[in-house]
Amino acid sequence: FKKLELQAKSNDELYQMGDTFNKMMDILQLHFAKQQQFVLDASHELKTPLTVIEGYATMLKRWGMNKPELLEESVEAIYSEAVRMKKLTRQMLMLANPDEEANLDMRAVDVVELCEETSKWMRRTYEQEIRVEAQSAAVYALADESRLKQLLVILLDNALTYSQKAIRIEIAEQRDTVSLSVIDQGVGIPEEDLVHIFDRFYRVDKARARDTGGTGLGLSIAKRIIDVHNGGLDVQSEVGAGSRFTVTLPKAAREKAGENA
Ligand code: ADP
Repeated sequence: FKKLELQAKSNDELYQMGDTFNKMMDILQLHFAKQQQFVLDASHELKTPLTVIEGYATMLKRWGMNKPELLEESVEAIYSEAVRMKKLTRQMLMLANPDEEANLDMRAVDVVELCEETSKWMRRTYEQEIRVEAQSAAVYALADESRLKQLLVILLDNALTYSQKAIRIEIAEQRDTVSLSVIDQGVGIPEEDLVHIFDRFYRVDKARARDTGGTGLGLSIAKRIIDVHNGGLDVQSEVGAGSRFTVTLPKAAREKAGENA
């Protein structure tokens, strides 16, 4: 906050200063309430895998030596919960990093090339096909390439998790912007959940999301990345039909200059 020059010249100004002070306090309170909620949610999310790990470790300590059949199940459970905790802590650190904006490396990024490379890379983990459809061979957005890739991975990860069919990426150019849509024909998202899916830790179906390794942090990280790019992130979805997540980014100046020439 900037240092306030608190020197009222009239009653009117005194009133205005009081008003500004109250508004500032409201903003601060909201900020701290959000922080506190994040810490509470984060602790809760970490507690679940820890409880499972503790349970299996206790069982191993008591009976593990005499019951080798317990070993495989326990080691598998402890391993997968530890992997989950690692993912959670990595994502929470990403969200808590205040340097996000300061360390951006903004350049002209060919979105078509990035989508094709990322899709190829994702195909190693998933079976479905990912088709990239673009208006032209190269489409340049002004972005930090590694953050944009991270955002794309989050959207593709979700599309591939919540849909069994092929995924489509549509890339288009507008006057000053570039848009990229990740389209799936999967389970879709109920209308009442659509406004919440970008909230931290929010999951539509908690039980299923846990089975799929979901943490509920992916889309809030995606939103954070798009905010620091001054871009947009929209979703359209229909239960049973599928979802379309559309990212909008500023067009790279190099491209705009080329167009005008
Ligand atoms: P998660 O790690 O659970 O995927 P996200 O923040 O990425 O967390 O997504 C939040 C929730 O939004 C998911 O748990 C899921 O219920 C829903 N969701 C996100 N993407 C899709 C999609 N493509 N299709 C259906 N549901 C989705």
